[in-house]
Amino acid sequence: MRKKIVAGNWKMNMTFDEGQKLTSEIVNMFKDEAVKDVTLVLNPPFPHIHPVKKLIGDTPGIGLGAQNCSDKESGAFTGEVSAKILASFGVQYVILGHSERREYFKESNELLAVKVKQALANGLTPIFCCGESLEIRTAGTHEPNVKFQLTQSLFDLSPEDFSKVVIAYEPIWAIGTGKTASADQAQEMHLALRRHISSKYGKEIAENTSILYGGSANPGNAKELFSKPDVDGGLIGGASLKSRDFIDIAKSF
Ligand code: PEP
Repeated sequence: MRKKIVAGNWKMNMTFDEGQKLTSEIVNMFKDEAVKDVTLVLNPPFPHIHPVKKLIGDTPGIGLGAQNCSDKESGAFTGEVSAKILASFGVQYVILGHSERREYFKESNELLAVKVKQALANGLTPIFCCGESLEIRTAGTHEPNVKFQLTQSLFDLSPEDFSKVVIAYEPIWAIGTGKTASADQAQEMHLALRRHISSKYGKEIAENTSILYGGSANPGNAKELFSKPDVDGGLIGGASLKSRDFIDIAKSF
């Protein structure tokens, strides 16, 4: 059975105190309410990594991720953070290819392929984001477009490496807009991606790949989204900054 994951992307939010409060609340609610059968992943900005790790401690079911890593291994790259450094701080996951990084930092499918390899080489699980713009959705070419993102960034991996990757399908028109993809739209794309993975790596690996949905997910729509057979959880932006909402999403399976 593939893993169910609810990952919170804090983006560039949260001061030190706010991040400590949010994490403590999430950890306490997760334990007190005995949330089961789902892995939570907190993805704070880099400076929070160490203190958030301390608060999570060894709580089973809660993991720690970063929002990006360098494509380089180490060296004179001022301002960058390598996968190796992240791993040494106990980070387990890294979000790669978020649409904001693709758009504002011009990250290409080719660059992301290198970042994915860096992450895997250092024992991190990439949460690889893909998704189409509104223009592409309107033109009806979303399916080939998103499949191409996977082909270019991931299909060079060995089957063993690919099986460590988590996919997040995030239609750009739904991110931070309050406009969620319908559960049927999400299911349709998740199934198409799973079939695409199967065509390259075979049925078993495809069936075991967790595919998360991202884009204005909240406690009000998570249940319907997560009820779909190919939706294995969510990558949550805005709602991950509110402990109650984040935990309620995690309880929506
Ligand atoms: C995201 O940034 O990955 C995201 C899904 O954001 P939001 O939930 O706010 O749409």
